[in-house]
Amino acid sequence: MVWASTNDMTDILWPIDAIQYRLIAGSITGAILGSFVTMLSYRMPRRLSIIWPSSHCPACKTRLRPRDLVPLLSFAARRGKCRYCGIFVGWRYFVIEIVLALAGAAAFVTFGFTLWLLIALALIVAGVTMIAILMERASDGMDKFCH
Ligand SMILES: [Zn+2]
Repeated sequence: MVWASTNDMTDILWPIDAIQYRLIAGSITGAILGSFVTMLSYRMPRRLSIIWPSSHCPACKTRLRPRDLVPLLSFAARRGKCRYCGIFVGWRYFVIEIVLALAGAAAFVTFGFTLWLLIALALIVAGVTMIAILMERASDGMDKFCH
């Protein structure tokens, strides 16, 4: 149908708002926010500064380089192991980044590039950070119970 081209025109005029761009932008933004959430949810309950020092391996303390900090890809490339000491850093990093990537994509598709999107992303970051802290606390409690 001729009228179908109206949507195509919209996509051409506003390519950044087409759904596939929202999905891509949303999952990338979400994954980046996800690595922020892993840092927040690790440092906040330990009363560590969230500004300093920069990210480092919790075991060998080696300062992580930018290539170690690419959300999801760094974890996948090293199968979750620290590049420097080989310790397995745990699934929480991967799971949190995946959850945030999916939630970010959903938020971008739902709200588009609006103020609501920023509000939704802020709520997602705060919510997942809280859940991650509570889950870690619960599993620590289980460890103490079991040993
Ligand atoms: Zn290490």
